[in-house]
Amino acid sequence: MELHSPLTAVKGIGEAKAKLFAAKGIHTVEDLLMTFPRSYQNRGNITPLRECTDGEVYSVVVRCTKLPTVGKTYTGIELLRMNAEDDTAPITVTFFGKRFLAQKIKPGRYYRLYGRIQMGLFGAEATSPDIEPILPESPLRDILPVYPLGEGLNQNLFRSAVENALPALKGVAEYLPEDLRKTFHILSYTETLYKIHRPANMEELEQAKRSAAFRELLIFRLALRKMRHAKEDATAVPMVPMESKLLPNLPFKPTGAQAKAIRQITEDLAKPIPMTRLVQGDVGSGKTIVAAAALELCAGNGMQGVLLAPTEILATQHGEKIAAYLEPLGITTALLTGGMTKKQKTMVKERLATGEIQVLVGTHAVLQEDVSFASLGLVVTDEQHRFGVRQRSALLEKSELGAGKRAHMLVMSATPIPRSLSLILYGDLDVTVLDELPPGRQTIDTLVLTPKDRKGIYGSILRQISQGGQAYIICPLVEENALAEEKSPKKAAETYFRELQCGAFAGIPMGLIHGKQSPAQKAQAMEDFAAGRTKVLVSTTVIEVGVDVPNANVILIENAECFGLSQLHQLRGRVGRGSRKSFCVLVNGSGKPCERLNVMKESSDGFFIAKADLEQRGPGDFFGERQSGELVLRTASLTDMPLIEETGKAMEYLLPEIGHEKYIALNKQAIRMVKQAGSGKTLN
Ligand code: ADP
Ligand code: MG
Repeated sequence: MELHSPLTAVKGIGEAKAKLFAAKGIHTVEDLLMTFPRSYQNRGNITPLRECTDGEVYSVVVRCTKLPTVGKTYTGIELLRMNAEDDTAPITVTFFGKRFLAQKIKPGRYYRLYGRIQMGLFGAEATSPDIEPILPESPLRDILPVYPLGEGLNQNLFRSAVENALPALKGVAEYLPEDLRKTFHILSYTETLYKIHRPANMEELEQAKRSAAFRELLIFRLALRKMRHAKEDATAVPMVPMESKLLPNLPFKPTGAQAKAIRQITEDLAKPIPMTRLVQGDVGSGKTIVAAAALELCAGNGMQGVLLAPTEILATQHGEKIAAYLEPLGITTALLTGGMTKKQKTMVKERLATGEIQVLVGTHAVLQEDVSFASLGLVVTDEQHRFGVRQRSALLEKSELGAGKRAHMLVMSATPIPRSLSLILYGDLDVTVLDELPPGRQTIDTLVLTPKDRKGIYGSILRQISQGGQAYIICPLVEENALAEEKSPKKAAETYFRELQCGAFAGIPMGLIHGKQSPAQKAQAMEDFAAGRTKVLVSTTVIEVGVDVPNANVILIENAECFGLSQLHQLRGRVGRGSRKSFCVLVNGSGKPCERLNVMKESSDGFFIAKADLEQRGPGDFFGERQSGELVLRTASLTDMPLIEETGKAMEYLLPEIGHEKYIALNKQAIRMVKQAGSGKTLN
């Protein structure tokens, strides 16, 4: 068995089990070992029963006091009752449907239980805890990994698979020089992986986590450095500034901030070095027109430009807008998305290659295809934070034009990226902030309500509709890896839609949009809503970013407590885009107060909210980790400044030392890492 062996090489894994793992993207032994635990259980910390606080999770060691009894609940479920004690108190343990335990639990023997302990009237109680017999010949492990599971997998199966795969680490080559590891106290590669899965104690675990994070961050930074170097040496085709025909013909006047951004971009583009500029502006600040002006200039200079969006829905919307803006000026535009037919795509690609299409709008999927441009001059990415590292590097590759030439890059994001992070991610990136909203916008009233208030909410929405408004209703969330079919987001959205259509919103034209629909269905639903043919759009979070229907003025978000702050802010940004007074209703379904919802109620400032989000949850959300399943880093945190500094030193140490070959080897590792980062495996 080696790292690249198929999973069936692991003892105990046959074809059937391998399939379950494959569904999670785990195909090889290496995939398995690179799936890091989501968390750990520390079972080595034994608490005397009497010291347990009611309702908390503990590890306790007890002696069985009498033969377990088997019975049935009044609903007919089989149960097994075990009586036990430690030196401080008795405990009654109930297991459901685990009859086989009756033969295994013997009076006088010792067991370790791990689970929630209830302190009842008659002593301690526990229901279905994990139970392990304490036997002198096989000592128990204190720290148990908890893996991210998929359908049909359970912790025991996962744990034993990993256990049996660990021998494959033997002989795996180390890629960091020994003295570097010594200087920075980094475990060897194999030791790191081994201890991530099988730490003997907390100290070992911390050491392994730090080593893993260090390695990951170092490699990540080396990879980015390489990208940056390629960029720094590059030249770009300068574009001659021209009078815009687009801006004077808009139904509105650009804000001061928009005008400034366009001016800066015009200056950047006039230089023979590639522009790398981030335009950062809160939801609704009007980034699209800035992109359109840049694309106009690019086309005016006889070069091709491309505008990329993270979702098909947004790409389609942008496609229409850009066409409406630029086609009247004689600029040929086109849309290219993954959902188009092969024939359509081929046609667009041909027209791109000949240079006939001057401005292309598309999803990142276009980058994965064999798209070639006749003369690419400018790449614009909207909602940049939603693109993963992999997509970013693909983007950079696309903008490399050969012979040291590079296209200009403009990235747009509503999510402010803290300076420390942007330095790592982009190096020296020029930033323009759109710190001004278009005139005439009214503040959005944000209400936090409970499911009990729903009737009243529906009534208020109906009133808004009767006054000409429109509403988004964001469906209740379903658990991400929900097993049951009826729990799938598609089903949930459809059920909710029908419920509303037959109930509160009977007679109101409604639309439904979710991720499982065909691109045509999605486009139709969006179009109907944008044109006002439907008044209510029931949606999953697919409309989260970028969607612009200025007439929509209410957004109702079910289970708002399940969303992150940045996501809520983005969702809320779907309204308040026109002159109508807008409302955002956050339904807290948890029955508990939720701090995040209060932040939303208090602030509409994206920068403030992003900061609060970063503090609460770390940087994951900045990179769309949760939403898109694309993860930048699995073990390292981009807010871990001490570790970032350490890896900075390590880079200085490493770069002069290593020869070309080693550097390439490291970069191969880096590319692998970046690829793996895309498979959404996490370690907390
Ligand atoms: P975002 O920054 O969220 O991408 P958009 O570019 O989608 O924002 O713009 C939001 C809305 O504001 C759009 O309907 C757009 O037409 C409008 N808009 C943009 N700039 C202005 C402006 N200067 N004055 C009035 N409305 C504007
Ligand atoms: Mg936008």
